[in-house]
Amino acid sequence: MSRPNIVLINCDDLGYGDLGVYGSQINKTPAIDKMAAEGMRFTDFYVASPVCSPSRGAMLTGCYPPRIDFGDFDGGWVLMPGDPMGLNPNETTIAGALSEVGYTTKMIGKWHCGDQPEFLPTQHGFDSYFGLPYSNDMGRQVDDPLTTDPERIERLRARPPLPLIRDREVVQEQPDLRALTERYAEEAVRFIRENKEGPFFLYFAHMYVHLPLYAPEPMVNASGNGDYGACVAGVDWVTEVLMDELKRQGLDEDTLVIFTSDNGSRMQDQGGSNGELRGIKGTTWEGGLRVPCIMRWPSKIPAGVVRSDITSSIDFLPTLAGITGADVPQDRIIDGTDISSLIFTGDNVTPPRDTFFYYMGNRLEAVRKGKWKLHVSRELRAHQQTGVVSQAVIDENAGTVPGLFDLESDIGETTNVYDNHPDVVADLSALAQACRVDIGDEATGVAGVNIRLAARVDNPETLTHYDPEHPYIYAEYDKSERG
Ligand code: MG
Repeated sequence: MSRPNIVLINCDDLGYGDLGVYGSQINKTPAIDKMAAEGMRFTDFYVASPVCSPSRGAMLTGCYPPRIDFGDFDGGWVLMPGDPMGLNPNETTIAGALSEVGYTTKMIGKWHCGDQPEFLPTQHGFDSYFGLPYSNDMGRQVDDPLTTDPERIERLRARPPLPLIRDREVVQEQPDLRALTERYAEEAVRFIRENKEGPFFLYFAHMYVHLPLYAPEPMVNASGNGDYGACVAGVDWVTEVLMDELKRQGLDEDTLVIFTSDNGSRMQDQGGSNGELRGIKGTTWEGGLRVPCIMRWPSKIPAGVVRSDITSSIDFLPTLAGITGADVPQDRIIDGTDISSLIFTGDNVTPPRDTFFYYMGNRLEAVRKGKWKLHVSRELRAHQQTGVVSQAVIDENAGTVPGLFDLESDIGETTNVYDNHPDVVADLSALAQACRVDIGDEATGVAGVNIRLAARVDNPETLTHYDPEHPYIYAEYDKSERG
C-alpha cells in the first residue's frame, strides 16, 4: 500500500469568515485560497468543542470530548499551566495510529492536551515535538486594563514564564512571539527535508490567531486588518512555505494537506470574523464550532470542489486510518466516521455523517441532523467569569432555548422555527437524549455510560518558574490582550 505524507495544519481561534476563500474582504490569504482551488473545501465542517483543549483532544482521538473526559477540567474551560489532568496516554491519537504503520511523526506548535511530562506529545505517538504546550496568553504579560477583579489580576500575574519545548525539555522561556511562527516554519521545512523518503505525519498547530497578537513587522505593515490581519497573513505564509517545500522535494502530488482551526473567532471587534455565522468561541452557535476546512491531495482529491455535507474534525482519525491502512481501536467507541468516500469524489455520495452533537464543556447544548439544528440548553456563565467579555456580547449570545433553526435557509440562526416543526423537534430531541445516555450531559445531570477517564498526576508542577535573575528576552510581554 502506498502511503501519502500527511500535513495537518490547525489554527487557533481562526473564524469561519477569516479567509479570502471563505469570504473575508479584509484578510489576504492567497496561499490558502490557492490550496482550496487545488483541493476540496468544506462548508459544514465542525470541531467538537468551541474551545481549545477539548477541540484538540477530540480531533486527535476521533471522539467527542466527554467520551474521553476532556469536556472540562475540574470546572475550567481549558487546561491551565500545571493542571493535573491530561489526555489519557491509553487513547490512540492520529499520530499513534500512523506510527504503527511506519510513519515518522512530528508535532510543531500549540499542544494544549496536558503540560505534565506524562501528557506531552511525545507520550501520544509523536516522535518529536517543538512548540508551546498551551496558549500564548498563559505566560507573563502586563495587566489587562479591562480586568478589575483583584483575584483574576492576581491569578494572571502568577502565571509562569511561557515555556518553549523541544520534545520534553523546556529550551526557552518567554520566547519572542513575533518570531515564533518563523521558527516553527523552519522546523517544519527541516522535518520535511529529513523525512522526504516518507511517509511522514506533520501536525502543525499554529499559535495564530490566538491573543495576544504578535506578528513580524512586514506582515503588520502590509495588513489591512491590523495585528489580526497580520497574524492571518502569518498563517497564510506558513501554508505557502509548506506547499513550496513539498514541491521542491517532489512530494507535492502524494501529500495530503489538511487545513483547519480549533474553534471559531473569539470576538469580532478584535479583527476576527465568523462570517455570517452567529456566536463566538465558547458558544454552541455555529460561530463557535463551524470552522474552515480545506483538504488538498492532487493525485487523489478532485480540485475546486466545495462540499456542504456535515463533516467533523473527529472524522480525521478514522479517515486517515482508512487511507493509510492504520488501525482504528476496536476495543472502544470512536465517534468519528471515515469520510474518504466524500473526499475522493466530486460527485454526490451518501453523506457518511448526518448528525453532529454540540458540546460546550460537558453540557450538550445542541444537535444537528441534516439541515436542522436544535438548541437544547445554553450556559453563558463561563463567559461572565472570564471577565473580559462585555455584557453586550453575552446578551447577543443568549437567545431562546429551546430553539430550532434551518441551517440551509438560515445559516445565521436568526429565525427560531421550533413551534412550526414538532416532528423535527421530537426526532432531534430523541437523538439528544440518546447522546446524553451515551456520553453524559451536565445540563440535565445525566451521567454517560460509555465514557473513559482522562489521566491525572499527583503533585503537578508548572514547567517553569519566574526567576528575576534569568536573562529573558521578554520577561513580560507588553500586550495585555488575553483570551
Ligand atoms: Mg482556540
